[in-house]
Amino acid sequence: MSLASRDRQVIWHPFTQQKNMAPPIPIVKGSGSLLFAEDGSAYIDAVSSWWVNLHGHAHPYIAEKIYQQALQLEQVIFAGFTHEPAVALAERLLPLLPGNLSRVFYSDNGSTSTEVALKMSIQYWWNKGETGRKKILAFKNAYHGDTFGAMSVSDRSVFTLAFHDLLFEVVFIDTPTKENINDSKTVIQQYANEIAAFIYEPLVQGAGGMKMYDAGLMDELLAAVKQSNIICIADEVMTGFGRTGKLFAGEYMINKPDIICLSKGLTGGTMALGVTACNNKIYEAYVNDDAYKTFFHGHSFTANPLACTAALASLDLLEKENCLTQIEWITASNKQFAAALAGNKNIKDIRTLGTILAFEIAKGKDEYLNNISAVITQMAIDKDVYIRPLGNTVYIMPPYCIREEELQKVYEVIKFILHQLELT
Ligand SMILES: *Cc1c(COP(=O)(O)O)cnc(C)c1O
Repeated sequence: MSLASRDRQVIWHPFTQQKNMAPPIPIVKGSGSLLFAEDGSAYIDAVSSWWVNLHGHAHPYIAEKIYQQALQLEQVIFAGFTHEPAVALAERLLPLLPGNLSRVFYSDNGSTSTEVALKMSIQYWWNKGETGRKKILAFKNAYHGDTFGAMSVSDRSVFTLAFHDLLFEVVFIDTPTKENINDSKTVIQQYANEIAAFIYEPLVQGAGGMKMYDAGLMDELLAAVKQSNIICIADEVMTGFGRTGKLFAGEYMINKPDIICLSKGLTGGTMALGVTACNNKIYEAYVNDDAYKTFFHGHSFTANPLACTAALASLDLLEKENCLTQIEWITASNKQFAAALAGNKNIKDIRTLGTILAFEIAKGKDEYLNNISAVITQMAIDKDVYIRPLGNTVYIMPPYCIREEELQKVYEVIKFILHQLELT
């Protein structure tokens, strides 16, 4: 039996209607930006396997470090014990992060990193005796993960419909524009004493459709939030580690977060790991003789040594000059391609930030529009490129190791698809 048929017997895939599901493509090997399928096809991974991969698949440097660590210490309980990779990673990360962050709390993925941040913020006020501060401020159209707390502070959509009456109360505002920023400030003032924290994806709302917004206006909004003493949580799970052209998107703003959430690119996309880093203000509220003020949170694999080692190895590669050059070159190349697409009336809102490029399909043949994402994904696969539009938002976010001819091919395939859909 083929792998795809065996899969159909036992597997339940994420975000996928299982009925009439297209057979999954069995991948047997990865190398650089390429994914090799069982049938010998090779696909350019233009979305970095859901935005996680930075340096290419099966990178030998990271693989070797994980292997060596696995021979040394693969896992140890992290309450009452510590180990070199966890401490070294925290020591190395903290000075790189925007803001004055001083403590790292480890968890397992992006959703848990935001769950930890939310719990940390709410209990911060509880520990201080200000029990009225329990609401969370978040952006409309946000995505912070799929667990209950993360889902609560994310957009109410078809993805969350079954759970709406179970999600906790959130004050939603729009991402800032010149037109709406004063209204948002009014809302913030109105709820100021009830809001524990503001969680935001800095400058790019990823799963919400790669929506980008202005850094200057965001800075203005953050200033207003800080004035109301609200804890600022930057969810850099997607934007972190160079995606936006800077190491962290928070570097584009003067107002820095109190808490940062990291995952996805943290390990170069090799292993699941989440980081929630906070400043002293937050941490000190937990250091107390009163045992009730302890942060009672943890996961079996908190600070897994293999994952921390992978993150250290990824940082080694990220800090190499050729990686930064690659990010700059992809950024420039994306801008050029965006300019080339700009005259097309059937697509709109062409935008780029760093290594991310996105646009909307504005119109097209009706029979395609309902299912445009699946149609485009298949057309690209037929041309050996993997992209996966979010609804009618087409985007690319390649690994930094992508070669010039590979990126050009991705652009060509996008142009070809627009042409095939009679959108050019
Ligand atoms: C992907 C993502 C998450 C959730 O991360 P998982 O590892 O998938 O749980 C949270 N926040 C943002 C901004 C993300 O892009």
